[in-house]
Amino acid sequence: MAFKLACLACGQGNRVADDKLGAGPKCGTCGAKLVKGEPTEISLDTLKKAQALDELPLVVDLWAAWCGPCRMMAPEFAKAAKTLEGKARFAKLDTEAYPQASQRYGVRGIPLLIAFSEGRETKRHSGAISAPQIVSWLSNAAGA
Ligand code: ZN
Repeated sequence: MAFKLACLACGQGNRVADDKLGAGPKCGTCGAKLVKGEPTEISLDTLKKAQALDELPLVVDLWAAWCGPCRMMAPEFAKAAKTLEGKARFAKLDTEAYPQASQRYGVRGIPLLIAFSEGRETKRHSGAISAPQIVSWLSNAAGA
C-alpha cells in the first residue's frame, strides 16, 4: 500500500509506502518533509494539486494576518497538526496573498477550515475553534 501525497512546498506528486509515513518521508524533487506535525504555508496552486492528489486527509486553514480570531486559532491549529501527525496533513493559506482563493472556495468569513479527502471537500467550519475541537471535527469528517 502506498499513499499519494503532493509536496506542500513544491507541489510535486510523491508516493509514500504506508509503513514509511511515520519515518519522515521527503519529497523526491525538493527534499521537503512530506509529513510533519505542524502546518505548512501553501500557495493556491499547491493547494489545488494537493486537494486533487492527496490520499491522506488534508485540512486547510484559510486565514489572514489582519484577522484576530485567525491569529488566536493559529496555535490551536498547530497543536491539532501535532496530534494528528501521520493521519492528516495541515496547511495554511493566506487569503491576502491569494485573494482568488476566496472566490474559488466560496469563503464568506475567516478563519475557515476546509477538509479534503481524495479529491473531495468533506467538511468545512468557519470561526475559530480549539485544538480538541479541530481534532474531533476532523475525525467526524473522516468518518472515523
Ligand atoms: Zn517538494
